[in-house]
Order: sequence, then structure tokens, then C-alpha cells
Amino acid sequence: MKKIMCLLTVLVLISCGDKKEENGKLKVVTTTTMITDLVEHIGGDLIEINGLMGSGIDPHLYKASQGDFRKLDRADVIFYNGLHLEGKLVEVFEKMNEQAKTTIAISDGVAENTLIGSEYFASNYDPHIWFDLAYWNDISVYVTKRLSELDPENAAAFEVNRDDYLKKLKELKIDLDKKIEELPKEKRILVTAHDAFNYFGRTFDFEVVGLQGISTATEAGVKDVQRITEFIIENKIKAIFIESSVPRRTVEALQAAVNAQNHDVIIGGELFSDALGSAGTAEGTYIGMYKHNVNTIVNALK
Ligand code: ZN
Repeated sequence: MKKIMCLLTVLVLISCGDKKEENGKLKVVTTTTMITDLVEHIGGDLIEINGLMGSGIDPHLYKASQGDFRKLDRADVIFYNGLHLEGKLVEVFEKMNEQAKTTIAISDGVAENTLIGSEYFASNYDPHIWFDLAYWNDISVYVTKRLSELDPENAAAFEVNRDDYLKKLKELKIDLDKKIEELPKEKRILVTAHDAFNYFGRTFDFEVVGLQGISTATEAGVKDVQRITEFIIENKIKAIFIESSVPRRTVEALQAAVNAQNHDVIIGGELFSDALGSAGTAEGTYIGMYKHNVNTIVNALK
């Protein structure tokens, strides 16, 4: 880490140029695919955007590569999730801040006293805030405000893009509510690989159980598997779910443990939790991801 930090210091020192040099566009670096998608919607082709993490990448475990340091160094602004989601990048962002680089945690756009607490997680809060649609609305407003401060000439265009996106989010909520209604209250129990869906659960009145904790850095133990096996049998749960950014073996081990007790449980499909689907597909966008998840969950559990 020390070596990387030294390199970072050197890179930052030698290239603190003016903002918006070269093609004149604000250079933005983002971390997760959800943030990249949101900032792309607001910034459109008025900004130059570089996302660090791709589809299927787990932000809890992600470490910056040499190529990432080059992107970060060239950036005018860095948008990241915050609340310790990007657990291994925290030091990198702190260092960037010390060197007067603009780093923005999108979680600052959300009222802190409404966050779901998590006393065992580093930030004391559950960082999976993108699953709260009202938060995503607030974060879109916050990102627009911060982009406009950095690039006031394009503020009006950013606001038009924001309003267009907020309209789409409103339509999304209506569509999701309609689909969720197909699932009676007693069947709204979601068992997944890790604790990414608490905000989803709060929004749509689901009980949520994750095999691993809030971060995938904590492995599921034998006791977790036993406890959740009993829970699945007691509640006659039909399906459990894998996540695209977490190895499927823990969920498969849980399925095997349940089946060994003569209770059938299927793998209901793959959900996108901490990363969107492949670029260029519907699931590669926030809106497409959310529709895919809700359709997969409702169809498997009803
Ligand atoms: Zn997570």
C-alpha cells in the first residue's frame, strides 16, 4: 500500500493541471456501475466519464489498479458511494482529498438520520443505499448540484437531464409497486448471498436475510448456514437467490443444507446487488437492474 501511495503522490504532484483541459469537458471518475449510470444520465455527453468498476465486480473487495490510479489522477472530480462500501479504497480517497482533489460521496446526498444502522459494519450504516428509490432521487439531485458547481456553464443542461431522469425513476416506482402486488405479504421473504437488500426490504415491505453480512469480506460460517436453513424450512420459503457480484457457492451450500433436511428450495435466479449487469444490456442500467430484480424475486416466490 505504501508503494502505491508514494506513486499516487508523485502522480498527483506532477499533473495538477487546470480543470477541463484537453477536450474542454469535466473529467469524472466514478466507482460502482450504479454511480456511473446515474452520473452518465445527469452529465450526458457534456462530461467525460470513467467508471472504475465493471459489471459483476464486488465493491467491498475492490482494490485500485495502476490503471485506476492514472484515471483518478486525471480526474477533476471523483464520485464514490461512501459509508465504507468501497472498503479498500477509503485510504485512496482520503489521500486524494488531502491533495485537494474533489471527491464526493453520493451518500452525502441522503439524510443521515434515515439510514439503516449497522453496528458491526465499519461506517455504522448499511451502505447499499441505491436500493432505496427515494434516496436515488435525492442522490440524483445532489449529483446535479455538485456537477453544476464544478461546471456552471452546463448547469442548465444538467438540470434538464436530472428532471428527465427523475421522471423515469417515478415511472419505475409505479411499475415496481404493481409487480410487487402480485406477491402476498407472507411470501415477501428474500434470502440472498449477502446483506445488500435491507433498503429494498424497507421500501417494499420484505423481510430480508443475507447469508454473509453487510460486507462480503465476512465469510458465512457453519452457524449462519444452520440458522438460515432452519429459517427457510420454518417459513416454507420456495426460492433463494444468488448475486452477480458474489460467488454462488455459499448460496449453493445453503440450498444443499436445506435439501438435506428434505425441504425443497430452488435457486430463484441471479440478482444484481452491488453491480449492474453487462454494459449494453437492459440490466446494465439502474432502471433495468431494478426491474430485473423485482421480476426475478416475485416470479420465483409467488
Ligand atoms: Zn454489498
